[in-house]
Amino acid sequence: MSELPLQRDIALAPLTTLGVPATARWYLRAQSVEILRAGLDWARQQGLPVFVLGGGSNVVFAEDWPGLVLQPALRGRALEATSDSHFIVKVDAGENWHDTVAWTLEQRWPGLENLALIPGSVGAAPVQNIGAYGLELEARFHSLDALDSRSGTLVTLDHTACRFAYRDSILKHEDGRHLIVTAVRFALPRAWTPCLTYRELAQQFAGGETPTPRVIFDAVVAIRRRKLPDPAELGNVGSFFKNPVVDAATYAGLHARFPDLVAYPQAEDRYKLAAGWLIDRAGWKGRRIGAAGVHAQQALVLVNLGGARGADILALADAVRTDVAERFGVELEQEPQRPGALPA
Ligand SMILES: Cc1cc2nc3c(=O)[nH]c(=O)nc-3n(C[C@H](O)[C@H](O)[C@H](O)COP(=O)(O)OP(=O)(O)OC[C@H]3O[C@@H](n4cnc5c(N)ncnc54)[C@H](O)[C@@H]3O)c2cc1C
Repeated sequence: MSELPLQRDIALAPLTTLGVPATARWYLRAQSVEILRAGLDWARQQGLPVFVLGGGSNVVFAEDWPGLVLQPALRGRALEATSDSHFIVKVDAGENWHDTVAWTLEQRWPGLENLALIPGSVGAAPVQNIGAYGLELEARFHSLDALDSRSGTLVTLDHTACRFAYRDSILKHEDGRHLIVTAVRFALPRAWTPCLTYRELAQQFAGGETPTPRVIFDAVVAIRRRKLPDPAELGNVGSFFKNPVVDAATYAGLHARFPDLVAYPQAEDRYKLAAGWLIDRAGWKGRRIGAAGVHAQQALVLVNLGGARGADILALADAVRTDVAERFGVELEQEPQRPGALPA
């Protein structure tokens, strides 16, 4: 292979939506599997740690990255197969998520519309099984291709192998962290029906005609624009905490103390608590510590008010987490990732 297009001492703030300052000692945008492989080989020879970066919308850099930041930039989208029940659509990891959702609707392969306007790349979407407005990626997932960073071979993982759960998959765990997603296949139903379980969508379309996929897409985009800060204007990584899932006794105790507690019943007699409600109720909405703030309309979103460092955001997150634990006895788990090296 000709010389690798490696870049040195790259500022990471413009490559992330939080926009906190950090530098990558080395950076490589990989437009092919061969370049990904060559980047991994090069880093191994240099003894440098590798971090895989997508669109940078779910990552918090609190320090400079001492090794290689490797960004899969493979592009391509195609209908790979059809069956009586589904369109199987294959999309390469470097494609933008929202543009891909819009493209599937243009092709008349609906099914992803509830996940419109989530920032980031297609390759990162299965990592935390992205979800919004009543739908999780796993409901439309067929399989993924990934490069095994240890052996250099390509592997395919089906739905079961991905072990999807709420904001979770095998890719976040020890037995999957060596995988770099290169492409994702979606199974989009021929017999499409709208997913209107989310309260705001249900209310909007109650009693009317069945909305088309495009109408749902537009509605989701409008709600998100109204509710969430645009990272281009106010640095953020979306929800900073997962919604904690608790057992029935914990839920009952909290509900007795706080009758307006927002919670959603789950399988096996468990309850998902709205983390935003807990943070709001603890009085954090709109508060700031230095240049790190809790968004004034959306308590679940921590924002860079201008000039914040990653450490400032993490210190604010710690203060929120400690306070919520003391008041409600509930532990909040951070959703965005701290950069970690691929396992050697
Ligand atoms: C305004 C805003 C709103 C958001 N709303 C939602 C929402 O509604 N629902 C939701 O689920 N999320 C939401 N998010 C979070 C984020 O958009 C998603 O998690 C998204 O999938 C991250 O994609 P990315 O390409 O930016 O990943 P990055 O932030 O670059 O990376 C995230 C993690 O995935 C890993 N990764 C990235 N690419 C690959 C790859 N190809 N192979 C293996 N690992 C990889 C990284 O190493 C890192 O650990 C929101 C974020 C913002 C800023």
